[in-house]
Amino acid sequence: MLTTIGLNNRGNRWFLFASRLLHGLKTRVTFMNARPLDLSRCAIHTQTTKPWSLAQCIEGYGRAGIRGISVWRDVIEPVGAEQAGKMLRDAGMQVPALVRGGFFVAQDAMARRSAIDVNLRRIDEASAIGAQMVVLVCGAAPGVALPEARKHVTEGIAAVLPRARSAGVKLAIEPLHPMYAADRSCINRMAEARLVCEQLADPMLGIAVDVYHVWWDPDLQNEIELAGRQKTLFAFHVCDWRVPTRDLLTDRGLMGEGCIDIRTIRSWVDKTGFDGPIEIEVFSQDYWSMDQNEYVARIAEAFLSHS
Ligand code: ZN
Repeated sequence: MLTTIGLNNRGNRWFLFASRLLHGLKTRVTFMNARPLDLSRCAIHTQTTKPWSLAQCIEGYGRAGIRGISVWRDVIEPVGAEQAGKMLRDAGMQVPALVRGGFFVAQDAMARRSAIDVNLRRIDEASAIGAQMVVLVCGAAPGVALPEARKHVTEGIAAVLPRARSAGVKLAIEPLHPMYAADRSCINRMAEARLVCEQLADPMLGIAVDVYHVWWDPDLQNEIELAGRQKTLFAFHVCDWRVPTRDLLTDRGLMGEGCIDIRTIRSWVDKTGFDGPIEIEVFSQDYWSMDQNEYVARIAEAFLSHS
């Protein structure tokens, strides 16, 4: 009896030791698969620091050693696209994206036509601020069935691609989490984005992979590999899914604060050869209410430790 207990205890200790060793190895292997980062690949979406103007974003990110900035339209509006472009160029900022275009889905044709006009203007603005791409939140509308909505998206993108080509601005479809399928996007998985890319087959059209929206997708690894092969992996956005999430729009976490295995997903992205910016896009009421300079310092730390 005693001997059995002794053996079991020894067995348990060995089991614990072995499982810790394995866990350590796994962590190291994951880390080795994802290339070490420095801030040269870090970009922040201006919406992440929502209380700041464009000038404050440029200055604040620069102070933290971050020269990448994806620009949301609300910070362009007060100054205009030309002036915004001058400010970004003067500061030597890299601009992966203008955020955002899309919203191609509507019941009536007039509304769809005006969405196309808006997107043509977005492409011109992206060109004026030196952005490499426009991120597309494709749209959805109650009353329009999802397959029909996806046709609107394909038609809308097809209508604006010639302008994207002539302006040299890429278009990146961002699949949105299915919680948005009713009214924000009928493109909810990488696979739906890929189908649009395959149909239109244009080198200016690709996909923005945002871990917040696609981390749960069982096909994610395959789709990322496929996007790499099809040369449609245009952008990689990171943040984290807090547990519990108190608000589905404005309670995103910084990397490392939630349940998304960001480093493993990044290792898949790395494997495709993607070496572009890693864009931080966090909407958080909590973080918007803190000192934004302290927040940007925390962003930089979370980027280096958990992306
Ligand atoms: Zn995103």
